[in-house]
Amino acid sequence: MLLDESEIAATVARLAAEISSDFSDGVVLAGVLRGSVPFLSDLARSLTIRPLIDFLAITPYAPNTGRVRMLKDLDIDIAGREVVVIEDIVDTGLTTAFIVGEMERRSPKKLAVCTLVNRPARRVVPVELDYVGIEIPDVFVVGYGLDHEGRYRNARSLAVADPELLANDPDTYVAALYPA
Ligand code: IMP
Repeated sequence: MLLDESEIAATVARLAAEISSDFSDGVVLAGVLRGSVPFLSDLARSLTIRPLIDFLAITPYAPNTGRVRMLKDLDIDIAGREVVVIEDIVDTGLTTAFIVGEMERRSPKKLAVCTLVNRPARRVVPVELDYVGIEIPDVFVVGYGLDHEGRYRNARSLAVADPELLANDPDTYVAALYPA
């Protein structure tokens, strides 16, 4: 287990306190679908400020091309607003770098990035992260929004998972992540 339920709660509380004090005039939380949903949901409810909440979705052009495109844009016009992009995990940085580029062109008053997990080992493009829940080595993780082929997103904890075991049996971590 990387972060159990109480460690996640403590991490979310810390990040919410930081964001609340940095954005006392209000903020737009821009969640990146779909992995950030549980994190954004908990984070938003832990803020002492009242945010606007919106979502965007990014998809690769094709597997392993390293290029991504916008699948669903924000509905809110962020020009002149203070915005925090909420990510589940920053890995290569391609998704975050694309989003930051897109958002910057819209002239927000302030733009920051918050990620639950930072995995710098496989970074391809540099990205500036303003709020980081946990930094991890080069391991695959599932749970609390993070999936393997759609599984484990609603698990309450975050766990390290072996991709080879998952390839053999996608339900390998069900017992560990969904305790009775
Ligand atoms: P990027 O490589 O930084 O662009 O990350 C792209 C996306 O890949 C993330 O937003 C996650 O949705 C997904 N991803 C990367 N690493 C993991 C992982 O360890 N578990 C589950 N999803 C991951």
